[in-house]
Amino acid sequence: MLSNKMKITVHPEKLGDPSQKQVGFYMKYASFVLRTLRRPSFQKFLSWMLRKENIEEHRVRDVQVIVFPSQRKNGNGLAGHCNTNRGRIQIYPKTLKFCQELMQESGKDKFTLYAGSRARAALIHELLHLKYANDEEKVRELTKEYFAVFAQNRSAQNSHMTSIYNMIFRPEAIENADFSGKIEVARKISP
Ligand SMILES: [Zn+2]
Repeated sequence: MLSNKMKITVHPEKLGDPSQKQVGFYMKYASFVLRTLRRPSFQKFLSWMLRKENIEEHRVRDVQVIVFPSQRKNGNGLAGHCNTNRGRIQIYPKTLKFCQELMQESGKDKFTLYAGSRARAALIHELLHLKYANDEEKVRELTKEYFAVFAQNRSAQNSHMTSIYNMIFRPEAIENADFSGKIEVARKISP
């Protein structure tokens, strides 16, 4: 089971000198992400996706939920990383500053939905890299489709889901990506 390979990991060298508040926040964030990714409904979905893509589950050695965020050189936060040789996947949080702003703007519920969805999308993305290696375009395209498959059950219940989808995918996608169109695509590949 994928869920048994998941754990929270602190990279001591990247720790810098965080305040008590930062440590507390990021620890809470990481345990929330771990719980979210381990939920049986999502685990079931991942097993289905791996089967569909012919990715053998044993290719995943471990999934690390990294406690502190990682900034890319261009300033964009890294959502995940996959070492395809080792079968090691790492999932990163957003920065405390971003999270505080989102919470102030949109409230705690929307923030929670965003953080969980972003982690799910990151894990889907990195798992797909095990098969599509450096084909980033293909991985991004499939990530959107698979994420939409998982999200469509929730979108009916949660009015925030469409805007969450856009927040996660818009920075890297075409400006006017049409969520309903993606759902159409998603239905074609859903179980
Ligand atoms: Zn990628």
